[in-house]
Amino acid sequence: MLLYVLIVLVLLGAIAGGVIASRRRSGRGGVEAPERPPEDAPVHEAPSSVLEVPPATAVQAPAPPVAAPLEAPEREAEAPGPPRPLRERLGRARSSFGQALVRVFKRETLTDADWEDVEAVLLQADVGVAAATRIVDDLRARSRDVAPEQLLDVLRQELVQIIGDADRSLRSADGLTIWLVTGVNGTGKTTTIGKLALREHRNGRRVILAAADTFRAAADTQLERWAERAGAEVVKQAPGADPAAVAFDGVKAANARGADLLIIDTAGRLHTKKNLMEELSKIRRVIEREAGPPAEVLLVLDATTGQNGIAQARAFTEAAEVTGIVLTKLDGTAKGGIVIAVQQELGIPVKLVGVGEGPEDLEPFDPAAFVDALVG
Ligand code: GDP
Repeated sequence: MLLYVLIVLVLLGAIAGGVIASRRRSGRGGVEAPERPPEDAPVHEAPSSVLEVPPATAVQAPAPPVAAPLEAPEREAEAPGPPRPLRERLGRARSSFGQALVRVFKRETLTDADWEDVEAVLLQADVGVAAATRIVDDLRARSRDVAPEQLLDVLRQELVQIIGDADRSLRSADGLTIWLVTGVNGTGKTTTIGKLALREHRNGRRVILAAADTFRAAADTQLERWAERAGAEVVKQAPGADPAAVAFDGVKAANARGADLLIIDTAGRLHTKKNLMEELSKIRRVIEREAGPPAEVLLVLDATTGQNGIAQARAFTEAAEVTGIVLTKLDGTAKGGIVIAVQQELGIPVKLVGVGEGPEDLEPFDPAAFVDALVG
């Protein structure tokens, strides 16, 4: 009997052991136990295999982790995600402008007070007095022939017409292309340069950035961070150096290294400060003397500063012959109408719009797409 009981126990034990072993093999039951050592596992056990690696391999082992951070921006540069539609990126500009007008145009007949509302919406969106007056006059005239709900379409056409046709591509030179980037402090010059460098690097160009903002502490570090991300090189001097000398160095280095594109960052300057504007003229003269006129002189305007941007654009154009405008921070303002004011009052083409702080948040300016996104 005892023997019989022992045999049964042994058999039961064998069956139980087999089940546990097979559950472990199949990964079920205590799923993570085989992969992850228990928390209190002796620390020396894991590295012991590293200690056993022959010395040559051990020396080479750290290489991948070091290489990885350097390669990451490259990979990021090669594989942008799908672009978000402009409508989404315009954010507040879009909702404030379009929705307010839709509400007015939904009314059956439009009274004088309604037309004043339309004008107020346009002015609040920074369209500017000249453009707002023109738009309201034209819409009122057309409202005699079309139903109110069609007025939004008429407005779209009107806005596209005011913005007008222009060559909005960034121009290139036959040899070295130079883009000089200007604007008041904090408008987004360095960020825009970073975005541009990344875009042009992806287009296969060898890009050099000249850090001619020698005034602001850490401006060159900020530029270097963008350069690393964009696969560009940076030319710089000590803080406080003559920015025209940095521009000069930039041209020399770009020619010597066979670069395709030199983008020159400049210090933010108040357009009302005469000596600073003269310094900008000097930078331009040095570039011209060394390499001919820059293919583009871009003025970076912060859309949130509204009508002050017009005064800035006038002063910068006088000092450095601005060829195109980059309108930044359109994602963060309800005043997208500044695009229309800039076109109406200055006639300098808006070439690019900044719609965020990320590397992909720079769009070529397409009037029809912009108006669609703005009006909704
Ligand atoms: P700079 O002084 O003209 O060189 O200006 P920066 O490039 O340093 O930009 C000033 C600030 O504006 C930074 O915080 C940028 O991230 C931010 N910025 C630049 N462009 C845009 C944009 O298009 N949208 C938003 N929301 N922020 C921007």
